Amino acid sequence: MKKILHCVGEVFKDCYKAFPAFFLLAMALDGLGVIAAMLEPVLLARILELAGGKPVDGVQLIQTIGAYGICLAYVPVSEVLFRTASQRADIKGAQYFGNKLVAFSRRIRLEVLENPETLDRFHRANAAENSQFVFFKQILLTVRNGVTCVGLMAVVGRFHPVLVLSGLLALVPSVLTKLYFEKKTTALRRMQSKVLRRLGYIRGLFSNKESIKEMRVMGFESYLIEKWNGTNAQRVEEYAQVNLDICKKQVWGIIVTNTGHVLNIALSFFLLIQGRISVGAFAACLSAFTAYESGMTVFLVMLFNAISTYHVVEDYYAYFTIPTERDGEVSYHPFQEAITASDVHFSYSGGDREVLRGVDCAIRKGEHVVIVGENGSGKTTFSKLLTGAFLPSQGRISYDGLSTEEMNRGSLYAHYSIVPQDFVRYWFSLRENVGISDLDRCEDTEAMEALLEKVAGSEFLENVGGLDVQLGKEYGGQELSGGQWQKVAIARGLWRESDIIILDEPTSALDPLVEYDVLSKFAEMIRGRTSVIISHRVGICRMADKILVMKGGCVVECGRHEELLAAGGEYAHIWQEQAKWYQNG
Ligand code: ADP
Repeated sequence: MKKILHCVGEVFKDCYKAFPAFFLLAMALDGLGVIAAMLEPVLLARILELAGGKPVDGVQLIQTIGAYGICLAYVPVSEVLFRTASQRADIKGAQYFGNKLVAFSRRIRLEVLENPETLDRFHRANAAENSQFVFFKQILLTVRNGVTCVGLMAVVGRFHPVLVLSGLLALVPSVLTKLYFEKKTTALRRMQSKVLRRLGYIRGLFSNKESIKEMRVMGFESYLIEKWNGTNAQRVEEYAQVNLDICKKQVWGIIVTNTGHVLNIALSFFLLIQGRISVGAFAACLSAFTAYESGMTVFLVMLFNAISTYHVVEDYYAYFTIPTERDGEVSYHPFQEAITASDVHFSYSGGDREVLRGVDCAIRKGEHVVIVGENGSGKTTFSKLLTGAFLPSQGRISYDGLSTEEMNRGSLYAHYSIVPQDFVRYWFSLRENVGISDLDRCEDTEAMEALLEKVAGSEFLENVGGLDVQLGKEYGGQELSGGQWQKVAIARGLWRESDIIILDEPTSALDPLVEYDVLSKFAEMIRGRTSVIISHRVGICRMADKILVMKGGCVVECGRHEELLAAGGEYAHIWQEQAKWYQNG
């Protein structure tokens, strides 16, 4: 109960912030609505009393009929007002709640994003869309109809107390069946969020041109369709079973509740013929029971809708409990000496295995370092710890002695540039694709053209059609090859004039000749900056000041190309293995 009240409080606070004028209007309309609904039967009884009086007090009768008319008209008029005003509030709410989600996502601890549970939670929070606004309206309607029904019972109770008791009893079965319904559907929805994400993923493969091409050529289209159908069939089956069970219980609830209402009317009629209530009171009871019945129906529907929306809204607010960046207090200052890793250990969230198992190394200012090693040896993971995106579970990474844990991460990121292995292809203009890493200089056409010429060659810009050409076929733009997209990603990394740059397998999509060319120019462009290149190809290592060789989550060798070759260890072994690819015979 405490959790529900807390959630309601959060929603009301947020709704007030998102649309204060509508919030106050809705409160006022609801308050008046309760008063109007309670006055209705009282005024009706009074009209009958006045009409039967001898002599008839005409003025008072007309005034009472007028007041009764106003009460009757209030409900439809207030509904029109509410509906019209709520359309604007709906849009404002969607913007407010969407922005809140995005603003929080920007602060989530990056290593937590590696956990699939986080993605499920994001999926559920995102699916809440504008449920907060819906919940707000449902709560208002629930409270309004609930209070009205209590008021109506108080009015009926004044005529005879037994009518209150019978009115309440009629509700019990309906409440129980609806509670059962909510419990079942919420459990089902939670259980199915993982399946839904999986379904979305498989369907996404059919709208991504790369995967479409691959599945068609490699012939696994039907396999994926079957996989999708199988997963979906299982989901539908689970739904069908729960729904059938719920449906049966609901039908019983409805039958029993309606029988209760009919009995209530019969009871008041019995009291009338017994002379225990007047004709006016009987008419007021009928009016109150009709209003009570429709009020109770709306109350119950809204209450249970609110309960099911509550679970969605709860998922939205639960998202905000995901750990955010453990930010240090100290602002990063460009380091002068070295970045040092001392006995660094790391495991992924939810993983039971250590991916880094005591990494020790130092990267001096201005050094060009290449990290090599077989796939899965921990190179990419280590680079994420270097940038402070992940924090070590044991040991420390420090910049001139200041550890990443103590540091304000935003201030560290500001000095970094990265070209990730899975670089993103933004379906924006070429200018935005490159300039997005430093938007302040985005309009410096000359500098951007010069950079692209170095990274992608002199004909690239001409072939693409200039900086302002839209990229990506999906939006009717110019499509690039995999290698060209990678060069654009490299240009984006270089465009940001950072102290440190990390490139993770930056040339994986380039052919060897182009690779050599790009890397030579690259070495020239990053002169004076500290760079870390991750690669499983050792060809790149000749131009490195330092090579770190990783194996099984540790740095097993460190030195220059010639030294490591002469040492005849792991590096020499990888070098010889790869050299075979390029030797004749
Ligand atoms: P490399 O860059 O050397 O190929 P990675 O750092 O990418 O290696 O991965 C090191 C190990 O960590 C691998 O065994 C990989 O399976 C595991 N790993 C990578 N990313 C994740 C993740 N998000 N969650 C759990 N394990 C991961």
